[in-house]
Amino acid sequence: MTKKEILDLILNERSNQDKKWGEQNHNVYKWLAILGEEVGEANKAALESKDSELINELIQISSVSVAMIESIYRNRK
Ligand SMILES: [Mg+2]
Repeated sequence: MTKKEILDLILNERSNQDKKWGEQNHNVYKWLAILGEEVGEANKAALESKDSELINELIQISSVSVAMIESIYRNRK
């Protein structure tokens, strides 16, 4: 899989998040909790040797990271 294909998957997940949740403007601690939850899910998938689930969780971690960065910039004063 190419970098572009991976980045396209992350951008697609970001679009799905926006459709599901709308614009999210959490404080950094809430964002880190959301990110931590996704990291926990990636750990679980890794421990269970579920490669495709692990990849999905890594895409979600990446997508949440992008959403968090968007939120931080949007809410800077
Ligand atoms: Mg997840």
